[in-house]
Amino acid sequence: MDSIYKERARLIVATFPEKIQKDSADGKCSLFPHIIDMFSTSAEVWSKCFNDIPSGFDNYNCPECGKFTRNVPTIWIKQQKQICDEGYGALGKYLQQTTTNFQTTCYQCERTVCNVNRVYNRHVYVELELRKNLKSQLMTCKLSEFEKSIEFSANNNTFRLKGIISYSPGHFVAFCRRSNNQWELHNDLSTKEVRITHDPTITPTAAIFIRRDTAVRNQPIKRKRTEE
Ligand SMILES: [Zn+2]
Repeated sequence: MDSIYKERARLIVATFPEKIQKDSADGKCSLFPHIIDMFSTSAEVWSKCFNDIPSGFDNYNCPECGKFTRNVPTIWIKQQKQICDEGYGALGKYLQQTTTNFQTTCYQCERTVCNVNRVYNRHVYVELELRKNLKSQLMTCKLSEFEKSIEFSANNNTFRLKGIISYSPGHFVAFCRRSNNQWELHNDLSTKEVRITHDPTITPTAAIFIRRDTAVRNQPIKRKRTEE
């Protein structure tokens, strides 16, 4: 375990140098001279670690600035009401319905409304953390509710749900969906992943979809011709 904690600290220090703090007010005299305050959202960690693999690309066509592309680190749910009303089971349907062509204020000039075409990348991180209203707690659900959101289609591709990040006060855990549809709980407070055999209540903060590589999948299997 010690080596895992050391390796984790090494990775965090290398990736988030700005999070290192002195743990005393004057910055002197302590047995533990530094702490790393990683209190933040999982989206921040994801955006930083996958900076070069964003969730999508927004292709703007602005009457003033012309054409340009902007990386989209994580996907936001703009119209949250549908999911707040119907539950997280409606997530796949929502992403399916959400058009990949939309209009929004130009990201560069911030003046003109322009057409945007969104293309999803191989890994799509969807930010959740929904609340029914500003005063209510984060929405919870049963893990099984996500079975209804297993896939969505966009840009002639299918995206499959492979992971959910769930929040419990002060801590995040990950539910990973294996190719045999078995869910596993990955919790860094445990030494091993746990196969899910019940239906836990979770507080989803993100869902991760992976693009199915249809081009590869639909290729006929080439058999080696054997010489007679
Ligand atoms: Zn513009």
